[in-house]
Amino acid sequence: MENIYEELGVSRPVLEFADEILKGLEERFRQIDETAEYNQLKVIKAMQEARVSAECFQATSGYGYNDLGRDTLEQVYALTFHTEAALVRPQITCGTHALAVALSGNLRPGDELLSITGKPYDTLEEVIGIRPSCGSLAEYGVSYAQVDLLEDGSFDYEAIRAAIRPNTRLVEIQRSKGYQTRPTLSAKQIGEAIAFVKKINPQIICMVDNCYGEFVERIEPSDLGADMVVGSLIKNPGGGLAPIGGYIAGTKECVERCAYRLTSPGLGKEVGASLGVMQSFYQGLFLAPTVTAAALKGAIFAANVYEKLGFHVVPNATEERYDIIQAVEFGFPEGVISFCEGIQAAAPVDSYVTPEPWAMPGYDSDVIMAAGAFVQGSSIELSADGPIKPPYAVYFQGGLTWPHAKLGILKSLQRLYERGYVKLPDAILIYEPEG
Ligand SMILES: *Cc1c(COP(=O)(O)O)cnc(C)c1O
Repeated sequence: MENIYEELGVSRPVLEFADEILKGLEERFRQIDETAEYNQLKVIKAMQEARVSAECFQATSGYGYNDLGRDTLEQVYALTFHTEAALVRPQITCGTHALAVALSGNLRPGDELLSITGKPYDTLEEVIGIRPSCGSLAEYGVSYAQVDLLEDGSFDYEAIRAAIRPNTRLVEIQRSKGYQTRPTLSAKQIGEAIAFVKKINPQIICMVDNCYGEFVERIEPSDLGADMVVGSLIKNPGGGLAPIGGYIAGTKECVERCAYRLTSPGLGKEVGASLGVMQSFYQGLFLAPTVTAAALKGAIFAANVYEKLGFHVVPNATEERYDIIQAVEFGFPEGVISFCEGIQAAAPVDSYVTPEPWAMPGYDSDVIMAAGAFVQGSSIELSADGPIKPPYAVYFQGGLTWPHAKLGILKSLQRLYERGYVKLPDAILIYEPEG
């Protein structure tokens, strides 16, 4: 084992340091495997109940009327998320699009949208019109209100009560912290907030941005009263195989309104050819519970490695996890760059390229991104990025298999170690970097 790691450029001190840390993670990894087992059974049960067959993988083209694969897959999602209905399609281009469809499908002029988890994910600012944007909800006369989370990351129930108005039609809850520093919310916390909102007005639609949270727990927000859960298939539920797509699972009424928005009034769910991607959607969902577990192990391993080395990590080494994102604050730019280089060097695809910070549109500082993915932009595959500005934090997520996630973290540590940015406390052998 050591030999092959050394062939891949991971030195003995790095391996030994990692092994020590891994010994302390056995019980946690066992619990993650148990959750994966439960969720794997949940998905298989859904596929059996929906009578998935080989015919479901056939490609359709044109209008896509009576597309058995598409309709059955939507039933599988509904059974998995315990909802009445679902919309799962390659025509939903990404998570932002799925969320935009869910919002614009269910809101009408004069309605108010209320976010109770503070500022929503960046790309939604333009969907809502928080940043003025062509075609935003604001342009269609939908107003927006927001209640921030409390200092400790919990819901501000008093402020929520005060913010709910007669025209509040939809409450948005973002499960994952995304790239903010607040804690991610558990399904249970979300369920409590939904119950609170419904008690004030049961007509309010509760929508959860479920991105990065799927299969991390045994229950989903849809088990606890959410009217819609929404996410991207190039994150957790696509299992790394879906090449595109998004999903909305929820009540029959809500999902139907989404379908009329996604395709056209009058057509709804009836059209939308599946174009040959169905097998990847099914097989990706089948793999999603164990893929999510792999990513989760990677995140926890990274948190433990870098916390032990004295860096601030969010979530910390021992915290309960509700999504797959890990942040490491280096405090200096070379830390972020070295980390991303290591992730890139561990990739199965494009491992030979060196990521560099650049001025990405929409960001106020240079950003470095590492990804060597089979599906472009996929963030269930091992990937990392960070803006080159204080506190010089890198955000890291994904890993289709645990050994790959582990290699990525070891390679990142190797870079930092070679360049003298970290000292390994228990190193026995001194590694001599090449050159
Ligand atoms: C990724 C993400 C989105 C948007 O998904 P895209 O597929 O990138 O458009 C929305 N919300 C959260 C919390 C996310 O993590």
